[in-house]
Amino acid sequence: MTTRRRWKPRWSEPCPCASGKKFKDCCWPRLPDFDIGKAYTAAMKNRHLDRALLATRADVTQYTIWHKTNTAPALAAGAVGLRLLRIDVNALNAYVGHLSWLYFRLGLWEEWPAVLDRLRNNIQHQLWYRKIVYHKAFYHVGPGGDREKARQELAKAGPITKNEEDVELLRLYVDLQSDDLPFAARIEMLDRILELDDDRETVLQYQGAKAVQYFMIGDAQTAEQQLNDVISMVQLTTADQPLKGYEKHIYCRLCSYWEVLGVTSRY
Ligand SMILES: [Zn+2]
Repeated sequence: MTTRRRWKPRWSEPCPCASGKKFKDCCWPRLPDFDIGKAYTAAMKNRHLDRALLATRADVTQYTIWHKTNTAPALAAGAVGLRLLRIDVNALNAYVGHLSWLYFRLGLWEEWPAVLDRLRNNIQHQLWYRKIVYHKAFYHVGPGGDREKARQELAKAGPITKNEEDVELLRLYVDLQSDDLPFAARIEMLDRILELDDDRETVLQYQGAKAVQYFMIGDAQTAEQQLNDVISMVQLTTADQPLKGYEKHIYCRLCSYWEVLGVTSRY
């Protein structure tokens, strides 16, 4: 058995965390190895956001090194399939998600698109490029953002259909394009999100959205049925797992729809 040569960024090359600094001036003394994620969690617990930023940059660099050492050559040699690549894409994306939040909170948001451009080649695959597109589109959705720019950016991900695998792209697509879709297509997209992610918050948000869609076209019966499903699911789970902030907000909104529907069907 041959030992695979460890891929490492060169000393004076840009750091893989996309800070814009050279590797020697950035992540190399902080690489976490198998303690990946630990320093970030500790820093977040103590609300040390600056330290969390350094830690999560090192996590991005560490994961990129692993990917380029292991998965990328194996993939190129045809030794592993897309499943492994997907694991890498999702894992690296989670660290980039931390990074994104920290850039926002630390007032570095304007730098974020340039960081994303630099992160593009950390994984050389279409699945990763689409993640970068997602983050770039998402950048324009925030407060004071430009939804038209977000739409233009999202278009670079290629066609998004009811068979889409990337639930983040799908959610953003529904948020940005839903109004332009015919009713049936809108429902298909909402169903696809629910198929890919059965987290309670997702069910609240997207099955709730389905109910609202039926309500809007005057199909009160289906709307009520959808809402009943969501509300009984919530009632069954809250004993073990109380609603979190955002869930509470969606739930209250759905309950008000439910009351309106109740009134409509009674009279
Ligand atoms: Zn770095």
